[in-house]
Amino acid sequence: MKNKASVVIIGGGITGVSIAFNLAKAGVKDVVLLEKKYLAYGATGRCGAGVRQQWGTKQNCILARESVKIFENIKDVLNVDIDIEFKQKGYLLLAFTEKEWNQFHKNVQLQNSLGINSKLLTPDEAKDIVPFLNTEKLLGAAYYEKDGHANPFLTTLAYAKAAENLGVEINKGVEVLDILVEYRKIKGIYTSHGFIETDKVVNAAGGWSQKIGKMVGVDLPVYSERHEILATEPVNEILGPMVMSFSYNIYCQQTPHGSFIMGYGPKEKVESLKSTWQFLETMAEKVTYLLPPTKNLRVVRQWAGYYNMSPDHQPIVSKCEEVEGFYLAIGFSGHGFMLAPAVGILMKDIILENELTWDVVLDIGRFKRNEIIKEPSVV
Ligand SMILES: Cc1cc2nc3c(=O)[nH]c(=O)nc-3n(C[C@H](O)[C@H](O)[C@H](O)COP(=O)(O)OP(=O)(O)OC[C@H]3O[C@@H](n4cnc5c(N)ncnc54)[C@H](O)[C@@H]3O)c2cc1C
Repeated sequence: MKNKASVVIIGGGITGVSIAFNLAKAGVKDVVLLEKKYLAYGATGRCGAGVRQQWGTKQNCILARESVKIFENIKDVLNVDIDIEFKQKGYLLLAFTEKEWNQFHKNVQLQNSLGINSKLLTPDEAKDIVPFLNTEKLLGAAYYEKDGHANPFLTTLAYAKAAENLGVEINKGVEVLDILVEYRKIKGIYTSHGFIETDKVVNAAGGWSQKIGKMVGVDLPVYSERHEILATEPVNEILGPMVMSFSYNIYCQQTPHGSFIMGYGPKEKVESLKSTWQFLETMAEKVTYLLPPTKNLRVVRQWAGYYNMSPDHQPIVSKCEEVEGFYLAIGFSGHGFMLAPAVGILMKDIILENELTWDVVLDIGRFKRNEIIKEPSVV
């Protein structure tokens, strides 16, 4: 492992590898990434890997729209021959309450103004897309056929390989223990494998990012929630799009291999990665009501991961004002996989002090300025 680096990235999830790749692509030498376990150990390897552009805030729409452009051309962008299994089978979002339905109208208007051609559907039109959907009490749906999902392990691997090809050093099994700060400037990093001298550190530690913040004496405005998810045995394809309901708080998709992946999100500030039987029971109740044929599926695996929540459910991609050389790519609030390609580019812009590639406000200062526009459409 190098003992000197121009930039050290903490975290080998999708955010860390995307930042590493984009820095190296921009010509930055001596980039080092540190991952305490293995690549995708955190939320990335535990996520649904859904990719939707149907958001309720401008920032999330732009980040997702630009990331989709990259996912669509990932082999050319990364110059590695790894199929990330990106499939654009759409997202069908269900509205069961007036409040939700009104919000969908606003969201679709915003999305269309940003070039995301989502549309509103009647319950019958929704049934044309998912014939076995239970439309009882359904007021309507929103749909965009260019949304989809990918394989989070293969996507992380593809970015990591691309970064390594450009000279990034990726160290797995190396834990960051502390960060040396002198006169409010980053000086280096203490790891389980020795000290690295550096003046730039990126915190991309997902559900552990608060702990990294404490190492430089900063209390970050993020917290972690446990979210649970399961996979079933594979069956023939019966479900095209990701189906999502904010009032039922669930999502369900079928992967290219035939397994169903589904989850729901009680807002639990639990510091545990254990999955529970209560989740299995509630998930089964909700999904079999909305998508009745799922009652015939057998569950093969369930697990849990952290959502790293920000106050407005939009990411924090920012310098840290209190400590020079400390950068933040945190607070992805349940949608960091799909935003990572664009986030890597923005963090590269911030570190190199370039103008931001897109007109988005993701700096940490927005909370102090009281400029919070909360993302309304989350599970
Ligand atoms: C159940 C579930 C479903 C989800 N579904 C979706 C979805 O459908 N679509 C979507 O876009 N997003 C989804 N998400 C959210 C998404 O997974 C995350 O936002 C995203 O993966 C965050 O990536 P990351 O790289 O920032 O963090 P992580 O993937 O958590 O990576 C952080 C890494 O930092 C490492 N680390 C931590 N501390 C240290 C240390 N001290 N030293 C070294 N390394 C350290 C960890 O080991 C970890 O590998 C879901 C999340 C969960 C939990």
